[in-house]
Amino acid sequence: MSFQNPVFIPGPTNIPERLRKACDMPTIDHRSPLFAEILHPARDGVRKVIKSAGAEIFIFPASGTGGWETAIANTLSPGDRVLAARNGMFSHKWIDMCQRFGLKVQVVDVPWGAGIPVARFEEILTADTGHGIKAVLATHNETATGVRSDIAGVRRAMEAAGHPAMLFVDGVSSVGSMDFRFDDWGVDVAVTGSQKGFMLPAGLAIVGFSARAVAATETASLPRTFFDIRDMARGYEANAYPYTPIVGLMNGLNEACGMLLSEGLDNVFARHNRIAEGVRRAVSAWDMMLCAASPDLHSDTVSAIRTPEGFDASTIVSHAAKAYGVAFGTGLGDVAGKVFRIGHLGSLTDVMALSGIATAEMVMADLGLPVRLGSGVAAAQEFYRAKPALAKKAAA
Ligand SMILES: *Cc1c(COP(=O)(O)O)cnc(C)c1O
Repeated sequence: MSFQNPVFIPGPTNIPERLRKACDMPTIDHRSPLFAEILHPARDGVRKVIKSAGAEIFIFPASGTGGWETAIANTLSPGDRVLAARNGMFSHKWIDMCQRFGLKVQVVDVPWGAGIPVARFEEILTADTGHGIKAVLATHNETATGVRSDIAGVRRAMEAAGHPAMLFVDGVSSVGSMDFRFDDWGVDVAVTGSQKGFMLPAGLAIVGFSARAVAATETASLPRTFFDIRDMARGYEANAYPYTPIVGLMNGLNEACGMLLSEGLDNVFARHNRIAEGVRRAVSAWDMMLCAASPDLHSDTVSAIRTPEGFDASTIVSHAAKAYGVAFGTGLGDVAGKVFRIGHLGSLTDVMALSGIATAEMVMADLGLPVRLGSGVAAAQEFYRAKPALAKKAAA
């Protein structure tokens, strides 16, 4: 492998120099006022990035998976019913976690490549007249298939059914890269991690809780210790933690929020959409298909690309690593061997994306796939040059 090449996996993402430096700190006393100068601005920054006025932000030393556990263990009780759709490996793993916690999960299986079936959710919630379903779980961006679901639509379905369940959203591969509206969508718990849109190393589970979700902790009886938000909230009141925080990463998170907010969230989302569209143009030029079933589902953070029948897609990933020192994402679960993934989130430019597309072409040509060198690169170049990213600055 090479340490010079950017990665094209959908997390962990490339780390900007500025954030690497922010994480590299001398030790400070995490019970001193100095820590408060990192902790509270980082929480305020996350609140802005998820577009909330009042969400309680908790930051755990964990990965995104710890954020799933935080959502469940703090708000639910054994035997509680939850509703979830399975459309890829990440939604599957969250469902699996719920089952291991002794929750009764009503699973709606849809093809991998489909989004959350909003109309089906509305039917199920409408039929649940006793309001036995306590939470609806939604994976905003299914990273295994490159599918973005309609979270506003899920909330509308809940409203149409007049259902009081809480709405938990996995935003691990969307927050900080694609529009996420905690308040507008009536999200009760949002989950993310440090190593995707925040462009940091892995190590932080980042969650936002609505007032309702915070209140649910009082009656919820699932066992919790490390992820108990009540201990965390008490810690924050004293500018501290119930245990030792990852101070350098939290300093990085504060800096990452500053970077995203000073670029402007709309600009960040537009940049992701633009880079993603270049990749999608390349995929079309290769005469290949995305796993996502329709354009409204296209993810701006990861593209899962179907390879021809009978071809093992995982060889693309292994050959790219071996021959060119470049990392792509492999297929997971039901789509293992059938897709490879190009991650295009976080710290990325048009030029970096072009290098990934060019590498994918070399790899596919090496492996005998009918891809003409330069075809996808040219399609992406045409798209990128039609509206250069830096046009305003260049003209000024
Ligand atoms: C990466 C990811 C996770 C898991 O996060 P970890 O940090 O690996 O625990 C969960 N959900 C989605 C959608 C992801 O992309």
